[in-house]
Amino acid sequence: MPRATTVPAIAPLPYPGDRAASPRAARCAGTVGWGRGVRGQGAGARDRACELRAWATGAGETLRVARRRGARRGGAGVPCGRGQGAERAEECAPTACRCRTLRPMPATGLYIHLPFCRSRCAYCDFTVVPLAGGGDRVAAYFGALHRQLGQLASQFPGPLATLYLGGGTPSALDPGQVVRLLDEVHTLFGLKAGAEVTVEVNPGDGATPFIREVAGAGVNRLSIGAQSFDDVELTRLGRRHTVAEIYQTLAAAAAAGIDNLSLDLMVGLPGQDAARVAANVAAAAATGVPHLSAYLLHLEESVPMARQVRAGRLLLPAEGAVAEQYRTLHRAAAAAGLVAYELSNFARPGAEARHNLGYWQCRPCLAAGTGAHGMALLDDGCGWERWANETDLDRFLAAIAGGGDGIVSRDRVTGATARGEWTMLRLRLAAGVARAELAGRFGAGAVGWLERALAPYRGRGWVAESPAGWRLTVEGWLFSDTLFCDLFE
Ligand code: SF4
Repeated sequence: MPRATTVPAIAPLPYPGDRAASPRAARCAGTVGWGRGVRGQGAGARDRACELRAWATGAGETLRVARRRGARRGGAGVPCGRGQGAERAEECAPTACRCRTLRPMPATGLYIHLPFCRSRCAYCDFTVVPLAGGGDRVAAYFGALHRQLGQLASQFPGPLATLYLGGGTPSALDPGQVVRLLDEVHTLFGLKAGAEVTVEVNPGDGATPFIREVAGAGVNRLSIGAQSFDDVELTRLGRRHTVAEIYQTLAAAAAAGIDNLSLDLMVGLPGQDAARVAANVAAAAATGVPHLSAYLLHLEESVPMARQVRAGRLLLPAEGAVAEQYRTLHRAAAAAGLVAYELSNFARPGAEARHNLGYWQCRPCLAAGTGAHGMALLDDGCGWERWANETDLDRFLAAIAGGGDGIVSRDRVTGATARGEWTMLRLRLAAGVARAELAGRFGAGAVGWLERALAPYRGRGWVAESPAGWRLTVEGWLFSDTLFCDLFE
C-alpha cells in the first residue's frame, strides 16, 4: 500500500550547489524529478551512453529508489510453484524462482556498447575509455565483442527486430571496424525485414564519413547527440561540437539517405531558462527530425561541472524553474507536432524509437560490451532475468579472453517485483497501463492493487484514468520519481 504523502513542494533549493552536491537527496521528498532516461537504450549501464543514463532498465533510477525504499526483490533460489491466478504476483514473491528457465525465443533487440570517446564532457561521470593512443585496445575490444556475440547467438538465435550501437561515441571510431561489426551481427543473428538499426552519432569529429559508411552497411536510424542549439551551452557542457556541426551532421544523414533521425537535447543546464528550452526545441523541430529525446542534467559530485557549480562559477536553475522547463519542453514539442510517447521522448507518429520501446514494454533484449545490460523472459512469461556485463574495459577483455561470458551479475525479477517494475515502465509511456494487459500478465488482483496505489494521485492531476486503464499526465511525469517511490514502497 502506498504510504501517506505530503503534497509535493517545488521549492528553490537553498543554494545552487545543492543539486550538484546531493542530487538524489530530495527525490523522495516530493521534489521534481522524472525518469533520467536513456539516449538510445533503456537497459543501459551507467556508462553506456551519453548524457543522462539510467542504471538498469529505462526506469533504472526510479527502480533503484523504489528498492531503497523497500520494494521486494527476489531472494535465494527457492522454487516458487509457479503460482497462477488472481494473486499470483504475491504468491511468487519474493522468491527468485530458480525453477524457471529462460524462454528460448528469438530476442527482439540487441544493444552493443562502444565505450570510446575522444574527450570527456564536463558533466560526464561514465566509464569512458579515451580513444587517443588506444588503437590496440579498440581492436581487442572488437575481438571480444565478436566472441561475446557468438556466445549470445548460440543461446538466443535471431533474427533481430532492432539493433542499437551506443556509447561512448560510436561515430568517433573507424567506420570500417563498425561496418565489420554490423556484418558480424547480420551473420550471427540475422535481421528481420524492416529491422530498426540505430547508431549513436556525435556531431563533428568525422561524423560525415562515418555516416556515409555505416549507411551502406544497413544503418537506417541515427541518434544524434546535439544537446543544445546554443554554442554557449555547448561550450559549458564541454561538448566538442558546435551548432554548425549539428547541421552538417544532419546534412550528412540526408546525403546518406537516412531520414529516421533523433536529436538529443538537455534541460536544466546552467543559465538555462524556459525560453532557452523552447528555443532549443523549436530549432530541433525546424530541422525536420521526426524524434527528440530530452533529459534533465544530472551531476555527480566528481564531475568538472559540479565543481564549477560548487565554486559559484556556474548557476543551476532552481527546482521550480526546472519544473517549468519540463512543462515548456512538452508544450514546445507538441506545438511542433512531436508527440510525447514517453516522459522524455517525443516523435512524429510512426517515428517512435522501436528499440527503446522494447525496454519500456519489457521485451527481451540482448546486450554485448562493457556495462551493457540484457534481459530475457522466463518461461512462464510473467518474469524475466536481467544480466549486466563487466563495466571495466580491462576486466571485460580479460574475462572474455579467459573463455568467460563477461557477465558480472544476474538478477531474476519475479512476482511482486516484476509487477512493480513492469508497471513503472508502462507508466513512463503515454499509453500507460492497460487493465486487460495488467490482469493478463499478473492476475486479476493486480488491477485492484494498482487502483489502490494510484488513488492518492488522481486528485493531484498526476494520473488520468479511463475504462481502459491509467496513464500519467505531464505533471505526473514531472513528479514520477516521487510517485514511483511512493507507489512501490
Ligand atoms: S560523448 Fe561526452 S557525455 Fe557522451 S559518453 Fe562521451 S564523454 Fe560522456
